[in-house]
Amino acid sequence: MNAKRNYSACSGCSLCLLSCPVWRSTHDIRLTPHGRAKAMQHGASANDLRESVESCTLCGACEPACPENIDLLGMVSGLRASSPLFKRRVEVGMDGVLPAPTDEISTPTILLIDHALAENPALLESIIQHFGGSLAIGVARDSGFDISHDLCDGIAIDEERLANFLSPLKTTLRVIVADGHLQHALKTWLPGVTVVSLGEALSTLPQVRQQLRDSDFYVIESVAFHRDHARLISHYDNLRLTIGCTMNLDLQRMAIPTTASARHSGKVNVDDQVRWILEGRQPSRIVVEDVADIAAFGRVTDTPVVHLANLI
Ligand code: SF4
Ligand code: SF4
Repeated sequence: MNAKRNYSACSGCSLCLLSCPVWRSTHDIRLTPHGRAKAMQHGASANDLRESVESCTLCGACEPACPENIDLLGMVSGLRASSPLFKRRVEVGMDGVLPAPTDEISTPTILLIDHALAENPALLESIIQHFGGSLAIGVARDSGFDISHDLCDGIAIDEERLANFLSPLKTTLRVIVADGHLQHALKTWLPGVTVVSLGEALSTLPQVRQQLRDSDFYVIESVAFHRDHARLISHYDNLRLTIGCTMNLDLQRMAIPTTASARHSGKVNVDDQVRWILEGRQPSRIVVEDVADIAAFGRVTDTPVVHLANLI
C-alpha cells in the first residue's frame, strides 16, 4: 500500500463526510477531516482546532473513504499530542493508580479485554467457552493509566511503560483484542504475534457462524474494521455472503459506527446513529461485536440484541 499522506494533500472532495458520525450529528464542516485539513493548509494551529480535534471519535470511518490516502487518524492524534488540553487530562489520570497487569502468561492465546468486558463477567464467560480452556485473560490497562485512552489522546507511551505492558504479551502466539485502538497499536508493537480483533476472532469460529441467520443484522465494530479495512472487507463479505445476513456497511463498505464506546463522542447523537443504521431494515435479531452496542441498540429498538459471543 502507498505511504499515507498528510493534510496538505486534501483536495476538499468531502468524501470523508459521508460516514463521519460527527458530521451526521452536527453538519459542521469545521468538525470534519475536510475542515481540519483545509484549516491546516491555511495555517491553523492545534489550539485553533481544539474543538474539532476533541470532537473526533476515532471511529476510523473517514480514512478508507479518502481518495488522497491521508492519515486522517494520525492527523487527529498528532493534533491531540500538541494540545495542552489532552496532556492535562493524562496528568490528572496518573493520580488514580489502576491495578497492575495480570500475572506473567505463557499460553498460545491471550484475550485482552477492555473495561466493558471486564464489567460483564457473564459475557466474558461465554467468550471463554467459545475459545476453549487454553485462553489466558488480560485486562487492557496498565499501572500508570489506560494505554488505549492515552493512544486516543495522542499521548506518547514511554519506553519503560510500554515494555511493562507488552512483556506478558510477548510470550504468546496470538492476541485477541477487544479494543480496536489497542489492536491497531499492538500490530506494530508485537510484529511476531498474530493480533486480531475480538469480532474477527469470534466470527471466524464455526460454532458461532453456524448460529448466525440470514434474517440477522450484524453490526461490525468500526474501529478495528477501518484500521485494517482492505483485509477485513474480504472477511466480512465472505461472512455476509455465506450467511445471507445484512450488515452496517454503506455503499463504500465503510461500517457505519454507533460510537457508543468511543472516548470522545460528545458531539455525536448515538441514538440517531443507531436509527440511521436501522433505517429501512426489519431484522429478526441484531448481532453486535461491540459490548457497548448492546445498550445502544436496546435503547431504540424492540428487536432482540445479542453479542456475537452469546450465539450458542
Ligand atoms: S475518525 Fe470518525 S469521527 Fe473522526 S473524523 Fe473520521 S469518521 Fe469522523
Ligand atoms: S476525503 Fe480526504 S481529500 Fe477529500 S475532503 Fe476528506 S480529507 Fe480531504
